Amino acid sequence: MGKVWFVGAGPGDPELITVKGQRLLREAGAILYAGSLVSEACTLWAGEGCDIADSKGMTLEDITAWLIEKAAQHDTVIRLQTGDPSLYGALIEMLQPLDAAGVESEVVAGVSSAFASMAAASESMTLPEVTQTVILTRVEGRTPMPEGESLRELAQHKTTICMFLSITLLHKVREELLAAGWADDDKILVVQKASWPGEEKVVYGTIANIREKCRSEKIAAQAMIVASPTLGARDWQELKKSKLYDASFTHRFRKAEV
Ligand code: SAH
Repeated sequence: MGKVWFVGAGPGDPELITVKGQRLLREAGAILYAGSLVSEACTLWAGEGCDIADSKGMTLEDITAWLIEKAAQHDTVIRLQTGDPSLYGALIEMLQPLDAAGVESEVVAGVSSAFASMAAASESMTLPEVTQTVILTRVEGRTPMPEGESLRELAQHKTTICMFLSITLLHKVREELLAAGWADDDKILVVQKASWPGEEKVVYGTIANIREKCRSEKIAAQAMIVASPTLGARDWQELKKSKLYDASFTHRFRKAEV
């Protein structure tokens, strides 16, 4: 029996897969990728004769049955996941049937689209004395949010908030942020297809106008919404510098200048 690897493909750019993920793709006898989200380019790293399938039309049962069947034929089988496998990736639902079938498995981390979106706009999730916390979440759609996790509640912390799977719910994002005490002219960033070569779109707006801007840019899928008090900080005149590089700050690797 072979082993099934859940590999984070990264956000889209095939160069943003990890070195380990790339090596495993080269060694794999079979690869199942989510064609609706993972760039087909990632499968370019696959070796010759590799059995490659798209899971686009498959149910969860089809997927796990495919992985178990291929693990009986190959040493290395890969389930290629978009971004990082631990975020909105149905990882546990796939691991359980493999465990039940006695198939060995392991997870390889990937670059999440949350990070690629910030990179696309040269923005920082954290900034000294502005916010030191990041919330990765989604707005309630068909999947209900657990108690205490509505955007209205989370947003009261005024931290950086990355919203997955929510681009069609921008009206709700506005409603909830305003209810949490944000203002209509607070900045919002939307990035579509972050890191996809030639396809990435970066749109800035305000809580009031971001929906209209996305509509005119025809952004309706595969997009990250970021609300953060750090947005646009590159243009700020007054910036609290990180203590790590502060000349008067002593840490393990450097003594303060006096
Ligand atoms: N595990 C993935 C998220 C899967 S959920 C990760 O770590 O990134 C799918 C959602 O992720 C999409 O609805 C969108 O909000 C976001 N997403 C995935 N790829 C993206 C990309 N390249 N650019 C912007 N958002 C992306």
